[in-house]
Amino acid sequence: MKQVLVVGGGLSGLSAAYQLEKDGARVTLVEREARLGGLLETRLVDECLIEAGPDSFLAAKPAALELIIELGLADQVISSNDHARRTYLWKSDRLIPMPEGLVMMAPSDMAALATTPLLSLAGKARAAQELLRQPPPEPQPDRSIGAFVRDHWGEEIVNYLAEPLLTGVFGGDVDRLSIQQVLPRFVDLEARYGSVTRGLMAEPRAPEAGSLFRSLKGGLETLVTALNGRIAARRVQATAQQVEKTATGWRVQVLPPDGPAQWLDADAVVLGLRTWQAAPLVETLDADLAALLTQIDYSSAVTVGFTWPLDGFPHPLNGFGFLVPQVERRHLVACTWVGTKFSHRAGPGKALVRAFLGGDRWCAASDQEIVAAVSEDLAVIMGVTDPPVGISIARWPRSMPQYYVGHQQWLESLRQQEARHPGLVLTGNYLEGIGIPDCIRMGRGAAKRALAA
Ligand SMILES: Cc1cc2nc3c(=O)[nH]c(=O)nc-3n(C[C@H](O)[C@H](O)[C@H](O)COP(=O)(O)OP(=O)(O)OC[C@H]3O[C@@H](n4cnc5c(N)ncnc54)[C@H](O)[C@@H]3O)c2cc1C
Repeated sequence: MKQVLVVGGGLSGLSAAYQLEKDGARVTLVEREARLGGLLETRLVDECLIEAGPDSFLAAKPAALELIIELGLADQVISSNDHARRTYLWKSDRLIPMPEGLVMMAPSDMAALATTPLLSLAGKARAAQELLRQPPPEPQPDRSIGAFVRDHWGEEIVNYLAEPLLTGVFGGDVDRLSIQQVLPRFVDLEARYGSVTRGLMAEPRAPEAGSLFRSLKGGLETLVTALNGRIAARRVQATAQQVEKTATGWRVQVLPPDGPAQWLDADAVVLGLRTWQAAPLVETLDADLAALLTQIDYSSAVTVGFTWPLDGFPHPLNGFGFLVPQVERRHLVACTWVGTKFSHRAGPGKALVRAFLGGDRWCAASDQEIVAAVSEDLAVIMGVTDPPVGISIARWPRSMPQYYVGHQQWLESLRQQEARHPGLVLTGNYLEGIGIPDCIRMGRGAAKRALAA
């Protein structure tokens, strides 16, 4: 029986451990924190269920639902309330509904674009010119999303759609994120039609069967609990410090909270860590691999859950929430009206919102500063002046990897470097997708690679 060490008890590491055991390996799971789950954390505050990290996963990517069904949680799956799906954008002191027919930031309904108060007349005219584009004569190099969107539809679509939407998902810089990695369909439509808007109108996607987002009744941490219950792995609470090759396999030096450091041996090692956490572990083994790992940037976020009595709440919660474009210069990046987006979240008679602040400075700020900043914006945007009853603050420093222009070449270099060390396998949300289904799919794939070595 193969002995495999999995380092990192987030969703990537847990998915790898689960698959390894399913395939007959004996697993030791090394996680530095007392709790498993990494970014997946569900809290109960003022009778409201608050997701401190991710709140849902995309139904269109099957890996999450497949695992959930395997774990016997099918009856726990809930869908977003898509009949109430409407997202607003904050512009010039009011909330404006996003125009109909958008595919991410790309317009596909010109009538909706013509009537939205989100864009100026000049901005609409510029966006409409996109329809006249012809396919480029030769394949285009990878570009930033900002450059692509600016070139196609103009600056206003960058500022009022691309930037807030992408910041909401990646917390990143539109002028550095890769169009090829994040929106490959747009690159394909550009190559074939010239105009992405014409391409979207010619090839509309069939509407999703069911709702776009799914979650679990008791919160996403239910998935962690179920995985943990299913994995028989020996659990070691310790910080992994170094990975070494041995004559017969691998060993990892770990430091438990109360010391001393010890070495754990295995036939293979799976690292389910962020790149900046994995880099120091492989520095002595392979400085080039460590250097590659340090090249990925991460963004930081703070999520803030606030609750109030619903009775007398001053703003209608008639949608999934709102995004705040950076050009509007407020503190908040986005805010979800949680009780509208999902059932089983806001307690009876409660209003529950979840706000996002982006950037390292908010992770370093005190609770008081965070509460003051969120309260100030919610007062201006939603007219909420009463202090919240329940408060949940979660800081996630350097949590979201950035898929910049050139990510594909980086990934190929990483794969080549990793291939020099059979039995050492890297997995995590920095490879081929940041979402929950991606982490599950790649974690399970990592298990197969570890066993094939
Ligand atoms: C605020 C936020 C909101 C998000 N929302 C969504 C969403 O709605 N939908 C969605 O699909 N995705 C979302 N994501 C992305 C998704 O949550 C992550 O991609 C995913 O959870 C990452 O899991 P992971 O296991 O790769 O990493 P992590 O969760 O970071 O796990 C890494 C683990 O390794 C441990 N560790 C680190 N160093 C060591 C060491 N040296 N030794 C031992 N253990 C170590 C850590 O303690 C941690 O438990 C969101 C992310 C953030 C930050």
